[in-house]
Amino acid sequence: MDLRYSSEDEAFRAEIRAWMEGAVAAHGTSPPLDDWPARRAYDTAWQRKLHDAGLAGIAWPRAYGGRGLPISQQLVYLEEYARAGAPYIGVNFVGLMHAGPTLIAEGSDAQRAFHLPRILAGESVWCQGFSEPQAGSDLASLRTRAERRGDAYVVTGQKIWSTRAHVADYCELLVRTDADAPKHGGITWLILDMRLPGVTVRPMRTIDGESHFCEVFLDEVRVPIENRVGAENDGWRVANVTLRFERGTAFAQHIITLRSQVRRLASLAKARRGERGAAVDDRRRRIGRLDASVEALWRMTQMCISEAERTGAPSPLGSAVKLRYSELSQEIAELAVRIVGRPVIGAVEIDGVRTDEVAREYLWSLQATIAAGTSQIQRNLIAQRILGMPKGR
Ligand SMILES: Cc1cc2nc3c(=O)[nH]c(=O)nc-3n(C[C@H](O)[C@H](O)[C@H](O)COP(=O)(O)OP(=O)(O)OC[C@H]3O[C@@H](n4cnc5c(N)ncnc54)[C@H](O)[C@@H]3O)c2cc1C
Repeated sequence: MDLRYSSEDEAFRAEIRAWMEGAVAAHGTSPPLDDWPARRAYDTAWQRKLHDAGLAGIAWPRAYGGRGLPISQQLVYLEEYARAGAPYIGVNFVGLMHAGPTLIAEGSDAQRAFHLPRILAGESVWCQGFSEPQAGSDLASLRTRAERRGDAYVVTGQKIWSTRAHVADYCELLVRTDADAPKHGGITWLILDMRLPGVTVRPMRTIDGESHFCEVFLDEVRVPIENRVGAENDGWRVANVTLRFERGTAFAQHIITLRSQVRRLASLAKARRGERGAAVDDRRRRIGRLDASVEALWRMTQMCISEAERTGAPSPLGSAVKLRYSELSQEIAELAVRIVGRPVIGAVEIDGVRTDEVAREYLWSLQATIAAGTSQIQRNLIAQRILGMPKGR
């Protein structure tokens, strides 16, 4: 791919920059982290504004309501989005980044016609119901069962770690439809309407004091058969399409914001130099290395996005992107804590940055090497699917 931007790309950049300047300021600051109804309203209202400005689903095909923009303009969009400090994708993450793309790749015409416009307009929020108490890394051992009765699957079981399920309308649900088949062969991918009778959602509190995740209990929930995505018992293949989007392209927006986080580190280090002298000066080399690593990761992400555009879904290279992204974001968060020093346990402002926010970001960064498949699992996938090494015992 040619990494240089054309004059049309630059014209598009100017258009987005002008729109973002006004729109970001007008949208105001995000609500308190523990006010989930307000967070949902804030995130979906922003998505609606993007939609109305023709900036929703810029990578999605035009046939499905997206802009179908070329890869170079998708990248320009992400760069400008981060530059403007536009609101985080938030509750729209699953719908826009992997449920929508999975429906585009694997859904029926009726499913696409119903769900895709709603996702793009910020009218429906999705969550993911893959993991279970006994099925995380070994996802294929999931036990939530679905029995076909008439025109519905009757689903009973439990999901865990479902991010933002307490504010979701729909769920990407993996169920076992054939208990006798080999474990990868008896799984089906369903669209679960979270308002159906028998669905109970219980938020869980995490180390940073928030409730990002939920347990989802399913008690004889009747999911209409037309909500199945792909064939019965072919859900493992469909789930892998979802996971390839989740690991390969979904983090692009997060990755580009690492640039501004490294710049913030540099500025913080300068602000702290007067007080902490050489100790902070020594961090300069580390910040320089992080800056170079973020640029290298952004090039890898560009490769992954362009591959996805060519072939319809990201390749196993996505595992390498996800692994590097999660480790870099932890390094950046940890260095920020070191640079701030002791005030990190208080709540003061240094160089326009609140120190309790630095502490919160550090705690939150710990999840990065677990979410969307742990680092160990990504390394296994890289060994097997990119390097062609044999499976370990
Ligand atoms: C922030 C966050 C958001 C999440 N959101 C969702 C969501 O929305 N929906 C959802 O379904 N799930 C979600 N998850 C769950 C996530 O996918 C699982 O936590 C993850 O896959 C690991 O599973 P586990 O927690 O059961 O750990 P386990 O699978 O029990 O792993 C425990 C440890 O053993 C290691 N391990 C396990 N198997 C192997 C192996 N074969 N080789 C080497 N090491 C191994 C792991 O790397 C890990 O260190 C989320 C998790 C986080 C942290």
